Amino acid sequence: MIRERAYPVEPWHVREIRLDMDVLAQSESVFALSNGHVGLRGNLDEGEPHGLPGTYLNSFYELRPLPYAEAGFGFPESGQTIVNVTNGKLIRLLVDDEPLDVRYGELLAHERVLDLRAGTLHRELHWRSPAGREVKVRSTRLVSFTQRAVAAINYEVEAVDGPLRLILQSELVANETLPAQSRDPRVAAVLESPLQAEEELTTPDGGLLIHRTKVSGLRVAAAMEHEVYGPERKTIESEGYEDWVRTTIACVLQPGQKLRVVKYLTYGWSSRRSLPALRDQVGAALAAARLDGWEGLHREQREYLDEFWDVADVVVEGDPEVQQAVRFGMFHVLQAGARAEQRPIAAKGLTGPGYDGHAFWDTEMFVLPVLTYTHPSAVRDALHWRYRTLAAAHERARTLNLEGAAFPWRTIEGPESSAYWPAGTAAFHIAADVADALRRYVQVTEDTELEREIGLELLVETARLWRSLGHHDRHGQFHIDGVTGPDEYTAVKNDNIYTNLMAQRNLITAAEAVMRYRDEAFHLGVTDEEAAAWRDAAASMHIPYDEDIDVHEQVEGFTRLQEWDFAHTPPEKYPLLLHYPYFDLYRKQVVKQADLVLAMHWRGDAFTPEQKLRNFLYYERRTVRDSSLSACTQAVLAAEVGHPELAHTYLREAALMDLHDLNENTRDGVHMASLAGAWIALVAGFGGLRDHDGTLSFAPRLSSRLGRLEFSLQWRGLRLRVDVRPHETTYALRHGDPEDVLELRHHGETVRLTCEEPVTMPIPPAEVSGPSPEQAPGRAPLLRLPENEP
Ligand code: BGC
Repeated sequence: MIRERAYPVEPWHVREIRLDMDVLAQSESVFALSNGHVGLRGNLDEGEPHGLPGTYLNSFYELRPLPYAEAGFGFPESGQTIVNVTNGKLIRLLVDDEPLDVRYGELLAHERVLDLRAGTLHRELHWRSPAGREVKVRSTRLVSFTQRAVAAINYEVEAVDGPLRLILQSELVANETLPAQSRDPRVAAVLESPLQAEEELTTPDGGLLIHRTKVSGLRVAAAMEHEVYGPERKTIESEGYEDWVRTTIACVLQPGQKLRVVKYLTYGWSSRRSLPALRDQVGAALAAARLDGWEGLHREQREYLDEFWDVADVVVEGDPEVQQAVRFGMFHVLQAGARAEQRPIAAKGLTGPGYDGHAFWDTEMFVLPVLTYTHPSAVRDALHWRYRTLAAAHERARTLNLEGAAFPWRTIEGPESSAYWPAGTAAFHIAADVADALRRYVQVTEDTELEREIGLELLVETARLWRSLGHHDRHGQFHIDGVTGPDEYTAVKNDNIYTNLMAQRNLITAAEAVMRYRDEAFHLGVTDEEAAAWRDAAASMHIPYDEDIDVHEQVEGFTRLQEWDFAHTPPEKYPLLLHYPYFDLYRKQVVKQADLVLAMHWRGDAFTPEQKLRNFLYYERRTVRDSSLSACTQAVLAAEVGHPELAHTYLREAALMDLHDLNENTRDGVHMASLAGAWIALVAGFGGLRDHDGTLSFAPRLSSRLGRLEFSLQWRGLRLRVDVRPHETTYALRHGDPEDVLELRHHGETVRLTCEEPVTMPIPPAEVSGPSPEQAPGRAPLLRLPENEP
């Protein structure tokens, strides 16, 4: 955990004012830059020291055999692991005779700033070499949102005293040695030298490397070129070998004189394209980057982000830490999805090797709902990615003797990469999560073209899965047995409510869609009987309920399981999965992450307010939050059932997950779902946004600490701004035509909104809501409200 406040609280920057070697790997994740296609960890320019070097290309992976002590039918045989590709960030400096290395000599100043509006990582350092020579270095790095293959570094060295002889070595390096990883199952497999050299080429001011993975057969090209500004007398030359290419610039600087180098870096990869084609592709990308120049790239980056923030920004008054964190979170969410373009949005984005670079349901249930309202083009692309994996999902279903599509629990390209059934394929709910993300996207954007082209098939194939996975009992009730819901400490059980309710909506949405697209449905072989069977299954879905204690059962029989012995579980035994056998977790009432509580968010229409409160109190006592995908949902429900102060502490936990390294694994990459969760906790929690039946509804109510919350949403071509104050909320339509009308609900009341004028509605006083929620002993939210802050 980053215990001291590592980054000062500022609204639009994440600033590191001192280089702390103990949290180097964490800061590399926090400072990672990406556009969804290329990802660069925030490694120091000179490469060393490092926590974990990392350069990733979306979907560039190697295959490795999945190990089993005892194999079983239907177990996936090989897993995919994201590869650390050719590192092009490297710029080493020799100051007179000494390599610039912050561990030696004296670091007189060191600052790094992630600028959330400029989309850059800026670094300034002032270093005195062991021999007493001083330089100042300023470097700014960006991964371009507008040119997806391009990254660039503007690197400037100033001689403080002198004259100084400077040698700058800018490199491309493949097959970097990576530190050994821990045994934590959430960490990535390390692949030793995964890249085989195919070509190396140099020009005087740059070069390129082309490599190929051994088993997956993917080819990657990385190229660099430099513009050099400095003293008249300087030399520039390049040399290349199998795994590295180096451009060396040498000059002498007088005191106050500067050397400035702009490094353009481009990447391309393909499973099919030839070596010459890829060589040309990265060459062309370099030409495009140079055409814009550093200033052009920098300006376009800003313009792209201005456009993004216009809708995506959330203004939070009263908790400056959350203000910073929600912007930081949205920035990373954008970075993960902006240019992914029909490739996955992984749980860590492209910020680290955690979870092998896999995408999970985190994408559809945490990241996409946020992007749907703020940057829907990225959602369209992410849905296309799932659609592209449909063949693998069909095959998986066939292997399991099921109909339709069984989407993988974790994957990069489509095939299941989980070797552990109970917290893997058994989490069939991923199918309904995909369907729900699609439903929401279509509802919010009215993109019927996408619905027709890919949406219908996704809905049909997922509905088929549910119909074949579940069954009607002799009373006609529909059950889905032997599955794992979101809570991975309750595995392979019958009738998980979250799964059942999400499947129910999936079945209904599919049945409705086939009515709208009759011809297309016919081509997919859907008959009236089949659609009727989906409706029947949905109508008779079993929802387990314990009448004795008046709460829903997360899974059938949950409330009669033995209680977990929290009193004898010391803090160091969390996360429980690293200290207790799964069988013990599975047979007791201990909840890893919001599950029934999550169902009460996304399927809130299936519960009464009284049930929500009782359920929330019951599950709150048993939820340990060993997953970062929990706090935001607990915030949403705490706010809904009338506990805004608790909601606020959960909001803080979700939002500050990575800035404070709360789960002590930010080193492996940021937690994209939790970062998206900060927006969810604010907008769905304190804003009360729900979209159950195709209507936008809000039930805003702030915690006592918040003076104001303002956010925007895209809705069917309109831009809505919601400005929540303690006693009233103002709704305004932006950029619309005079005839545009938006109907929404505010605390149950219908509001008709036009562009003419905003509407302000009073916030009804909160009803007193019974007993205070209690957490499992020792599992209260990690970050209480800071007492003495304004
Ligand atoms: C959680 C899953 C999540 C995965 C990746 C696990 O710890 O239990 O719900 O999908 O992490 O973030």
